[in-house]
Amino acid sequence: MTITSYSNAVLNGNETHTRKKLPYAVDGFGTRAIHVGSEPNPSTGAVIPPISLSTTYKQDGVGNHKGFEYSRSGNPNRDALETALASLEAGGAYALAFSSGSATTATVVQSIGPNAHAVSVNDVYGGTFRYFKRVASETQGLETTFVDFENADDDTILASFRDNTKLIWIESPTNPTLRLVDIPRIVSLARSHVANPLVVVDNTFLSPFYQSPLLLGADIVVHSLTKYINGHSDVVMGAAILPPHHLKLAEKLRFLQNAHGAVPSPYDSWLAQRGLKTLHLRMKAHGINALKVARALQRSPYVKDVLYPGLETNPRNALAYRLLSPHGKKFVDNLKSVTDEDGVSPDSEGGFPYGGMVSFRIRGGAAEANRFLTALRLFTLAESLGGVESLAELPAQMTHGSIPEKERSLLGIGDNLVRLSVGVEEADDLVRDVEQALQVALHDADHV
Ligand SMILES: *Cc1c(COP(=O)(O)O)cnc(C)c1O
Repeated sequence: MTITSYSNAVLNGNETHTRKKLPYAVDGFGTRAIHVGSEPNPSTGAVIPPISLSTTYKQDGVGNHKGFEYSRSGNPNRDALETALASLEAGGAYALAFSSGSATTATVVQSIGPNAHAVSVNDVYGGTFRYFKRVASETQGLETTFVDFENADDDTILASFRDNTKLIWIESPTNPTLRLVDIPRIVSLARSHVANPLVVVDNTFLSPFYQSPLLLGADIVVHSLTKYINGHSDVVMGAAILPPHHLKLAEKLRFLQNAHGAVPSPYDSWLAQRGLKTLHLRMKAHGINALKVARALQRSPYVKDVLYPGLETNPRNALAYRLLSPHGKKFVDNLKSVTDEDGVSPDSEGGFPYGGMVSFRIRGGAAEANRFLTALRLFTLAESLGGVESLAELPAQMTHGSIPEKERSLLGIGDNLVRLSVGVEEADDLVRDVEQALQVALHDADHV
């Protein structure tokens, strides 16, 4: 097998800048993260690719160029990032980068054409909900049905499909209650229906490290690269990745990418590629830290409920394990034989790392949650997620504030629900920080 840059080059309509075809397919996730799309520069030997800021490219004769003409249509940095992404998202062959996760979503939805129907997981990312309900409904006559993919039975899900259902939109885990969707089950329901809709999975929360939806049968994976893939909270960007049998669809998205022009800059592409080189290291650390923080929360008398699918006590723990990517499973299984500095195996209490997002319900309500959030020393009170630094927020009033209260409570997003993006600081420091903030929020407040 050849590296995926070949596919991207074909997709770009130019094979001349295809890098040396090395058999990267045999290499593991971390090796591909570091090497694919990052081959030393053939003309200078630079080990790290230069940032190509030029917007235009010299042609030796009319139409005779080296693969690049104008930077919106393609540039070396975006091309290198796309090549890396197509390799990292297991089962991928084509990747397209956009100027945000939201632009990626918009482009994928636009590609299905006018007067179609979509079925979406009910607690989908707010911006995706807004695009379905307030943009695509108006501009392309899209109708969307929102279904609880976790709890609805097969008949209910099938009954939501129509003859013109062209798109199924999945997010798993969901945000912020970290419910799981059985992706292979939804894929097989989609395949069993005459409409045979495309199955799209927003894989932002787990990143390509923990979950490989294309290997589970999905047609398109989308990411907000803004989160774990860039990982340093300094780039807004998105991407769509497709498997080898979707060349036509990939070409259509490539056409739209250029036509809309919602493309990332060379500088941002370079930064995101720099970030993704450590994705495997960060995701392992996020997962181990999140599991430790989740366990500390579970032990606390000040916490009612911890939502982390990696916890052995979480009702979704077995499904979480079944949904793990091949490399994620290998990491989780190997942990059983590894011990930390204190001689303790990270899975000695059962459970396993499953991404860096942890939500919990604090005892009390908005006041206690607010006291907790402002008493944190290391977790910064802020929206977003997926960076190396730990963040904490109150979904009901921040990320999910635009959802009407009634719907919020149906989704389990109360005033006492706190969402943590557990970073890659030292686990002990994060656990201590959460414990002291709970103490301040509930114990000390009771005794003043
Ligand atoms: C942030 C996010 C998006 C949107 O991405 P932007 O880069 O902010 O446009 C989409 N889906 C999920 C799950 C997200 O967390």
